Amino acid sequence: MDSIIELVPDFKGKIWGGRRLETEFGYEIPAGPVGECWAISAHENGDDVIASGAYAGKTLSWLWAEHRELFGNCEGDVFPLLVKIIDADDDLSIQVHPDDAYAGEHENGSLGKKECWYVLSAEEGGTIVVGQNASSREEFAQMVEEGRWDELLNVIPIHTGDFFQIDPGCVHAIKGGTVILETQQSSDVTYRVYDYDRPGDDGQLRPLHLAQSLDVIDYGMAAPESGAVTAPEVDGVTTLVTTDCYTVERLSVAGELTFPTPYPFTCVSVIEGEGTVNGKPVKKGSHLLALSACDALELTGTMTVITSHL
Ligand code: ZN
Repeated sequence: MDSIIELVPDFKGKIWGGRRLETEFGYEIPAGPVGECWAISAHENGDDVIASGAYAGKTLSWLWAEHRELFGNCEGDVFPLLVKIIDADDDLSIQVHPDDAYAGEHENGSLGKKECWYVLSAEEGGTIVVGQNASSREEFAQMVEEGRWDELLNVIPIHTGDFFQIDPGCVHAIKGGTVILETQQSSDVTYRVYDYDRPGDDGQLRPLHLAQSLDVIDYGMAAPESGAVTAPEVDGVTTLVTTDCYTVERLSVAGELTFPTPYPFTCVSVIEGEGTVNGKPVKKGSHLLALSACDALELTGTMTVITSHL
């Protein structure tokens, strides 16, 4: 059994999607607008298949259920993380996610959704919605009813290389012209606050979830002014965020870099350049899952890599 496995990504057609997963990342994708690449996922809505090796053809959820020793006997009903690339050609809905407690009670025991975004590319003058300006449930509901979106939403400029942590309760939306690498809890629970009155493929408006949104929005959360990364880079490694659900790092490889991985597993995504990871050739768009038997990533080449682990 290899200590590092490769997965077959799962692609999702979305009304707001584009074609950049093909043109910028070289993936073979289905026809039409494609919004998401579920690159490392064991979620039932997009359970990735193992590409090669002893367990080729099996899914990541199967491996998690049947061979927990490969993940250091890590506990948990479900593989806890999900790594996606999101290509937003048009604006995504204004949305918010619940925490574990609310999702567990109201969404069939699902995990809540904490997520974070690394901006892979952004258009000149591009913006993103992170946070909102109402101080109470009543004020938020009133501003929605009156359609005062410009006042309500915290819209900030984005640039390639920006990073945003989106906690449960934070109102957010990725806007058109943006490609993002998202690391999140393995959950698919989204409450839509507003969808620009935009019809779906079937000509119908997608459902909104204002009541649930009002329940879960954190009205006291401070809204950020920028996504610029201020954490220092130490020997090629920048820690982008550490939460109780995940830690995410950016590795800047110029020649050789050794990154110790004393974790049950480590998600590895190459976002720029090319090289090797423990001898495997990789390039922009490659995603690997290092298992607990992998003590360190030995990286060579000229590339930027995003890692995540518990
Ligand atoms: Zn979200």
